[in-house]
Amino acid sequence: MLFYSVTMIADNLESVRQRIRRSCEKAGRSPEGVQLVCVTKEASVEEIEEVLRLGINIIGENRVQDAALKYKVIGDKASWHLVGHLQTNKVKDAVKIFSLIHSVDSTKLAKEIDAQAGKINKRQDILVQVNASGEGTKFGIKPEEALNFFKEISLYPNIIIKGLMTIAPETDDVGLIRLCLRRLRELRDRIYKSQITNHKPLLLSMGMTSDFEVAIEEGSDMVRIGRAIFRDKGQG
Ligand SMILES: *Cc1c(COP(=O)(O)O)cnc(C)c1O
Repeated sequence: MLFYSVTMIADNLESVRQRIRRSCEKAGRSPEGVQLVCVTKEASVEEIEEVLRLGINIIGENRVQDAALKYKVIGDKASWHLVGHLQTNKVKDAVKIFSLIHSVDSTKLAKEIDAQAGKINKRQDILVQVNASGEGTKFGIKPEEALNFFKEISLYPNIIIKGLMTIAPETDDVGLIRLCLRRLRELRDRIYKSQITNHKPLLLSMGMTSDFEVAIEEGSDMVRIGRAIFRDKGQG
């Protein structure tokens, strides 16, 4: 028995892909330069298998425990990205599953990832999460701390810093969203020029269902999309 509509997911995904292509065109970018991370935190294993059939190859989850259950079934048929906040006591499991951790925002966490990755002879790709909107409740380091943070964690041998991630503020003010996303790009450019990391180029993970088109215009390399793929449009 199917609890979801295969046609709906296929239609939604096609529409997301079209919107990505159009935004790339508008920004004069190649669509191959934008990776689609399909965020499956609200999706079942069956739904994940469906998007894999439709050509998705990167799955984004925001909780290690949920991802572990799904990973048991799906395994390495996809690359797994952790997009949500990571607690240090979950790092041991996280490094076994995820090819990219988007949410590194403390030295303590980076240190633990370095240690646990080392134990399994892995070099763990990570992104630094930045709180570009300055909202108090959100995870992520402050933009003004980013340079020092990069310097500090670039010393860990089992971590490879691939770029930066942010979550734009929840608002209808597109101007404000654009400002935050642009701030992340400018920060990336500053860090790149400072030559702190040799792991170049630094990628930008930004853009979700509500703002991925603006994010692509502002230079996003990785959009993280859930609702636009799995939700019935009638349900919003
Ligand atoms: C849930 C989530 C997404 C996807 O959000 P949608 O609005 O469903 O597209 C992206 N990034 C993070 C960090 C998330 O937790």
